[in-house]
Amino acid sequence: MPNDALAFFDDEGTQVILDAEEAASLWGLTGSLEAATVSACPTCRARVLACVALADVLEVAPPHPRARELLELADDAPTLHLYVSDMVSECRHRTWRDPGHAEWSDALGELLDDERRRR
Ligand SMILES: [Zn+2]
Repeated sequence: MPNDALAFFDDEGTQVILDAEEAASLWGLTGSLEAATVSACPTCRARVLACVALADVLEVAPPHPRARELLELADDAPTLHLYVSDMVSECRHRTWRDPGHAEWSDALGELLDDERRRR
């Protein structure tokens, strides 16, 4: 979808996708999810989130129309982390150098493999 902006996904390939407006309002309401971020690309919105912290952030933030879905994703995640991919950025994440980037890349790779298998 051309208006898709941010994909939240877990290690099993379950996804919640926000459009540009939803992504911008979520970023505004939650302080860019800073409090839930374990590791992030310095130059785009790609990041690794801690599920428990994400649930806390969403619960104290003003209501967001997709918060419930994101909470369910965090609750049902098979690992302690969720991942965010910035679908509108051309960023190659070259300056994202901590171990979070490798974990994020692995999760994204599996997500893309799953999508290929489904087609
Ligand atoms: Zn990046």
